[in-house]
Amino acid sequence: MSRIEDGGRGSIAKEGASLSSSTCMFCRIISGDERSFTVYHGDSVTAFLDKYPASPGHLLVVPNAHYTDYLEASDDVLCDLAAMTRVAGKAEKKALSADGVRVISNVGRSAGQMIFHLHIHIIPTWEGEVPFSWFTHRSEQPESEYREIAASLSASIREILAYEAEERRRADHG
Ligand SMILES: [Zn+2]
Repeated sequence: MSRIEDGGRGSIAKEGASLSSSTCMFCRIISGDERSFTVYHGDSVTAFLDKYPASPGHLLVVPNAHYTDYLEASDDVLCDLAAMTRVAGKAEKKALSADGVRVISNVGRSAGQMIFHLHIHIIPTWEGEVPFSWFTHRSEQPESEYREIAASLSASIREILAYEAEERRRADHG
């Protein structure tokens, strides 16, 4: 097991895990110790822009607790991630007029995983663009671009969450 209690800096690695939250890039982003363009921060999951986007608006959704990869996480965590992945994908279509999205989670170095904190890529796609290859060079973008995209994605995510909460309320009250 590689789960680490999400107790902030200096948290204790459980059952032989060697990674502490202070050395994991994504744990540092979640705790706010590392800068990122975060578009959603909830009780169990966080979403932020990939620093090296495969396309503009490329988001990562991660659990707030540290798990090495998709296969290590509990079903509860995966359910929360799946729900946020759906919302993030809708936001990309809505806010960025994406025609589609790719949802990917790499497990292990051979699959292309670079950061060993479970994350799901939500990559917007547009008709007529050259299909994205995982091994294409991905470069850092100007900060103004991240800021603008993050603002519109986070507004869209809030809208979708509010709309869905309202729909649920309506359904509950018949
Ligand atoms: Zn981590």
